[in-house]
Amino acid sequence: MSDCIFCKIINGDFGTEFVYENEHAVVFKDINPKADTHLLVVPRLHVESLNELNDKNLLGELMMCVKTVTENLGIKSYRTVINTGKDAGQEVFHLHIHILAGRIH
Ligand code: 5GP
Ligand code: ZN
Repeated sequence: MSDCIFCKIINGDFGTEFVYENEHAVVFKDINPKADTHLLVVPRLHVESLNELNDKNLLGELMMCVKTVTENLGIKSYRTVINTGKDAGQEVFHLHIHILAGRIH
């Protein structure tokens, strides 16, 4: 999707540093962190939201990504959030999982 900010980040257009990446997803810091650690797990595939994703394997890979990243960073306590739809606060319409740890801002 040419007008999708997360697709552009995945494509390397902004030189965003990836905390972790594999064939399915990339992980980078949220630009406006709402906790001491605020990461976004983003599938390489452009899918607007959880409502549009029916690929069980990819869903599993994304959650495994959460586990790998938090384990790599030594984070044992964290929240995961998936905002789905405008009324739930979704602002970027490319599926992503928030990882929030530490003090909430
Ligand atoms: P949503 O409300 O859609 O679940 O969350 C979107 C998140 O993406 C927000 O927390 C926002 O700060 C973050 N975000 C929006 N644009 C960018 C960007 O260009 N770079 C990064 N790293 N994060 C972004
Ligand atoms: Zn996208």
